[in-house]
Amino acid sequence: MTDLAAFAQEKGVKYFMISFTDLFGGQRAKLVPAQAIADMAEEGAGFAGFATWLDMTPAHPDMLAVPDPETVIQLPWKPEVAWVAANCVMEGEEVEQAPRNVLRKLIREAEAEGLRVKTGVEAEFFLLTPEGTAISDEADTAAKPCYDQQAVMRRYDVIAEICDYMLELGWGPYQNDHEDANGQFEMNWEFDDALVTADRHSFFKFMVKSVAEKHGLRATFMPKPIEGLTGNGCHAHISVWDTSGTTNAFAGDAGGQIGEVGLSEQGGHFLGGIMKHAEALAAITNPTVNSYKRINAPRTVSGATWAPNTVTWTGNNRTHMVRVPGPGRFELRLPDGAANPYLLQAVIIAAGLSGIRSKADPGPRYDIDMYAEGHTVTDAPRLPLNMLDAIRSFDADDALKEMLGAAFSASFIKKKREEWDSFVSHFSNWEREHTLDI
Ligand code: ADP
Ligand code: MG
Ligand code: MG
Ligand code: MG
Ligand code: MG
Repeated sequence: MTDLAAFAQEKGVKYFMISFTDLFGGQRAKLVPAQAIADMAEEGAGFAGFATWLDMTPAHPDMLAVPDPETVIQLPWKPEVAWVAANCVMEGEEVEQAPRNVLRKLIREAEAEGLRVKTGVEAEFFLLTPEGTAISDEADTAAKPCYDQQAVMRRYDVIAEICDYMLELGWGPYQNDHEDANGQFEMNWEFDDALVTADRHSFFKFMVKSVAEKHGLRATFMPKPIEGLTGNGCHAHISVWDTSGTTNAFAGDAGGQIGEVGLSEQGGHFLGGIMKHAEALAAITNPTVNSYKRINAPRTVSGATWAPNTVTWTGNNRTHMVRVPGPGRFELRLPDGAANPYLLQAVIIAAGLSGIRSKADPGPRYDIDMYAEGHTVTDAPRLPLNMLDAIRSFDADDALKEMLGAAFSASFIKKKREEWDSFVSHFSNWEREHTLDI
């Protein structure tokens, strides 16, 4: 276990950023001088509950964010500061609705069943001008810009700096590219335990935004930041192992359509859980009003949205909600850049575990081009069309709510409904344009 005070001495750290993630995926922190870290490491840093976006009132006592020393990262771009992920505690009890606690609880449940979930995420982002309204590279205008060699080199300074940092941190980054939309990039690093991936995912967003700012740009993970262009996905790749992490429990041959793509019976049931709870879990994987402009989207300029609209699975084919790219793992293509890094992992485990427990069947495999032939599939549910549909589906899924925890689920639904109410009470130009002369 890392002693944070000793870490500061050894590395020359002046400040610790004690960080937790709220219900909306926002990262909140206190900067604590190294001289004060020893007490803080034990007691936690104090926050006024109401201001934490964890569904608390002004009357709540202090919430304490207790750093998890295993997660400490010296900021590669500002080495006098070290970031550390924290667990939220109130009056000696873990705050049940705090996202990192929700995930830790589900990891313990999986462990109790002899399972260890390992995941990788593909957190796409755009590099925009500082005000966030236009693509920063004026020459990045090609209709099909995916893998554009010239455009990725024009942003080499930003991309290479971030990749260098990931190398330094030992994350095993292995590729970077220009993605399908103008101004859009993706950087990939190696999969790991779900909690490690969640911490890295959250740090990755912080790092990308910080490095972009340093270069006078603005990075965004917003699901659909530019109308008409492909949105920011955050695909999750999932496999489940024994607790020692050496045997992939998903690899095998369950027989039938599941065995053909190299999944075991357990893998098939986990996938079955994801399929069964898909409409509900979208409230977490696609948590914003804007998320629904990425899924269910009309064709983008490049010709494909690369996002699903129906609950279907397939082999190595990118037009479905779930792709099985090879034996022993699958890819959930539903999540977007707004997904809370902790809740994303938590809901995957919740749905998957419940699938294993109920021996859920993922249903038929569709080996078709969903974008061209989707209309021929009549027996698969559609994904929610908007955030309210998704919240209602989540609210109606008692099994999933229970897996995630009743306190969390109630708080999440409440805060998301408030957000929806705020959205629909906003008076838009669309209304005026479509209603003025009626
Ligand atoms: P894609 O072909 O979907 O664009 P990427 O290479 O961009 O794939 O991302 C794949 C992600 O999946 C990486 O984070 C990688 O480490 C992860 N991954 C690979 N194998 C597994 C596995 N067995 N379990 C979980 N994640 C995996
Ligand atoms: Mg104060
Ligand atoms: Mg990728
Ligand atoms: Mg991509
Ligand atoms: Mg992918």
